[in-house]
Amino acid sequence: MKNIRNFCIIAHIDHGKSTLADRLLEFTKTIDSKDLQAQVLDSMDLERERGITIKSTAVQMIYEYGGEKYTLNLIDTPGHVDFSYEVSRSIAACEGALLIVDAAQGIQAQTISNVYMAIEHDLEIIPIINKIDLESAMPDEVEDQIVELLGCPRTDILRASGKTGVGIEEILAAVIERVPAPTGDPDAPLQALIFDSVFNPFRGIIAYFKIMNGSIAKGDLVKFVNTGKEYDADEVGILRLGMDPRQRVECGNVGYIISGIKTSKEVKVGDTITHVKNPCDKAIAGFEEVKPMVFAGVYPIESEEFENLRASLEKLQLNDASLTFQPESSVALGFGFRCGFLGLLHMEIIQERLEREFDMDVITTVPNVSYKVYDKKGNMKEVHNPAGLPDPTLIDHIDEPYIRSSIITSTTYIGPIMTLCLGKRGILIKQEYISGDRVEIIFDLPLGEIVIDFYDKLKSISKGYASFDYHIHDFRPSKLVKLDILLNGEPVDALSTLTHADNAQSFGRRMCEKLKELIPRQQFDIAIQAAIGAKIIARETVKAVRKDVTAKCYGGDISRKRKLLEKQKEGKKRMKQVGNVEVPQKAFLAVLKLD
Ligand code: GDP
Ligand code: MG
Repeated sequence: MKNIRNFCIIAHIDHGKSTLADRLLEFTKTIDSKDLQAQVLDSMDLERERGITIKSTAVQMIYEYGGEKYTLNLIDTPGHVDFSYEVSRSIAACEGALLIVDAAQGIQAQTISNVYMAIEHDLEIIPIINKIDLESAMPDEVEDQIVELLGCPRTDILRASGKTGVGIEEILAAVIERVPAPTGDPDAPLQALIFDSVFNPFRGIIAYFKIMNGSIAKGDLVKFVNTGKEYDADEVGILRLGMDPRQRVECGNVGYIISGIKTSKEVKVGDTITHVKNPCDKAIAGFEEVKPMVFAGVYPIESEEFENLRASLEKLQLNDASLTFQPESSVALGFGFRCGFLGLLHMEIIQERLEREFDMDVITTVPNVSYKVYDKKGNMKEVHNPAGLPDPTLIDHIDEPYIRSSIITSTTYIGPIMTLCLGKRGILIKQEYISGDRVEIIFDLPLGEIVIDFYDKLKSISKGYASFDYHIHDFRPSKLVKLDILLNGEPVDALSTLTHADNAQSFGRRMCEKLKELIPRQQFDIAIQAAIGAKIIARETVKAVRKDVTAKCYGGDISRKRKLLEKQKEGKKRMKQVGNVEVPQKAFLAVLKLD
């Protein structure tokens, strides 16, 4: 055990975590550099493209240092706020963390939140200034920022480049010398922390764990403490680039278990594995059930595709237990599913995977958060859907989730960012200078305001120079109303939203304006109205047009005519018939892009 080092890499998105991980694998000859497919640790194509690590994995490296062999377990962590619980479990499995900061970008919001998490778990932090090869690198300035953040001596800070390979050897030396070996009692009852799981179509669920106490052997009868379920350990082993089966995995080490589990729902990240005989007396602290926070309707464009959509969602869920869905129906969109996501990014990922991997054409409705609605008798109901909001006369009060967010930016953008956050019903908690002209602004904001049109606005007003990170903080009372949109007098349920009473008026007006832009002119006038209950609060009209696209061909060129008709048909695929009005798919998300 004294020659084991368990560590993770924490970094803001794009600061070079995956690239550096590749260099470590290469340098320790865990992987042949000629076989090195870029960024081994990000396994899904989508991740590679987006440059974010969605699911964490682990890799074991064997490295000789000072005449001794060391086992280095690198645990990769997801790099986005939506997955912060998974990050916390990966961190809990480690004794050390490489903190990577981009030499040109400096410390960002995600860097800070990850550092706090690592400090909370008593990890030894090795700060690294990465990308020092860049012309725009400002390593001295970034060094100041790190000293300010960690209070560490300057000499503790390494400099590296994942691109050129500078500093890789020093990083490995620091891992061995500075990160403590795992502690734990090899003779105590088994206690292993599950920090991740993946679905394999042939083997079922593979759970990744770190052994805190005791050891686990092939064939053991084990129990997952929080779910209470028992399994045979059909196979255990360590993680090289693939799975490497072993008779036994020892205390302090990181490994995997395969035990005939078929769905991801049965394995909960953060759960504790123990033996059925001689169990540990308590579960490892910090377990939480992750709960989806953002909900949206997902509907097939072609209604016959409903069962296919169900099958696709089921497949996605095998791998991703945090995705939830249940059937719902909409007058406008027919049959679909109300899906629950960890956050907005998670929603986008699922939507994109449905389109790419399952070839599904879907319409996603405006997302909303989960509200706690209390009736006059004090009963609470969670509402995930505008249609689920009870009659206002029955409601005593509604609580909505608030986040505590950290925004790091330069002083230039403080003004516009404050205006944006205040406009989103934000409450300023703190404003603090980090170094030079960089400032951290802490705001409490309703999550419901963030899911609609916040990131894009933040990005554009700060010209990209603001980073944002948040966690769910608490629930607070809110004056919510249901805002309906009517097309030619018919309410379109898929366009309803829940919004704060104070914003409803301007929100309704902007919705109508946006929809007027998006709904094409048709053979008749289309009235677009926004209403709260029976009260109309805004109105726009799309004027009729006689729409004969082939008319301008003057009956001449047939092939040209056909092309135009084809094009029109193609356009129709992205349309949904609502009453007598054709509504383009993107109108259902109009609310996300209000000016
Ligand atoms: P991650 O999001 O933290 O995993 O970051 P990646 O490893 O995916 O890197 C983000 C981008 O930075 C990619 O385009 C990399 O090629 C680039 N990059 C990573 N490390 C370096 C480095 O040391 N120098 C330079 N110049 N670019 C780097
Ligand atoms: Mg990455």
